[in-house]
Amino acid sequence: MAVYNAAKCKVCRRVGDKLFLKGERCNTVKCALTRRAYPPGHLGKNARVRLTEYGSQLREKQKVRKTYGVLERQFVKYLNEAVGIKGNTAEILLNMLEFRLDNIIYRSGLGSSRSEARLLVNHDHFNVNGKKVNIPSYRVKVGDLVSIQEKSKKKNYFKNIAEVLKQKEAPSWLAFNKEKMEIKIMAAPSLQEAGLSADIKQVIEFYSR
Ligand code: SF4
Repeated sequence: MAVYNAAKCKVCRRVGDKLFLKGERCNTVKCALTRRAYPPGHLGKNARVRLTEYGSQLREKQKVRKTYGVLERQFVKYLNEAVGIKGNTAEILLNMLEFRLDNIIYRSGLGSSRSEARLLVNHDHFNVNGKKVNIPSYRVKVGDLVSIQEKSKKKNYFKNIAEVLKQKEAPSWLAFNKEKMEIKIMAAPSLQEAGLSADIKQVIEFYSR
């Protein structure tokens, strides 16, 4: 487990940006990027990297893909689908990623990181519009209602999370009823609302080479 967590921090250090892959730790001084703001590897602090245009686009693509924890093949599928839809491709791609069920659970605060949210979804804790869904990549839509299964509400994790949620605010495009533990999808987030540090336009350019 420790090795896995260390690997997550290496991803942030490699792309030179905080991707918030480890929950609460990311907001503390223990963040590896705060303590060692240079790439991992034997060159470490001495690594002087001047990125080419390709390198810069590749880095932005990795930032987005790793942030949402999506495999390359899945990511290309999202992109191809987004390109085929009329409109702003960057926003459409972002909405597809933001509307993944694991991301909704993370954004609501029910999971401290996307990987924790993914595990919660995998473990059969949620319904979408009253039906059990345990697929992290399940795509919600505006108007959907995500709720916690009645049997899951009795589990310690969800009993304790009520306290944690008092300190957290869900984004404005989600209406989170903390009493009922229900999340309604009110709108699609804009690029600004998603608060992604990556330049998603460069990601599109990367794949249009
Ligand atoms: Fe690790 Fe910091 Fe990245 Fe979180 S933001 S995964 S603590 S390097």
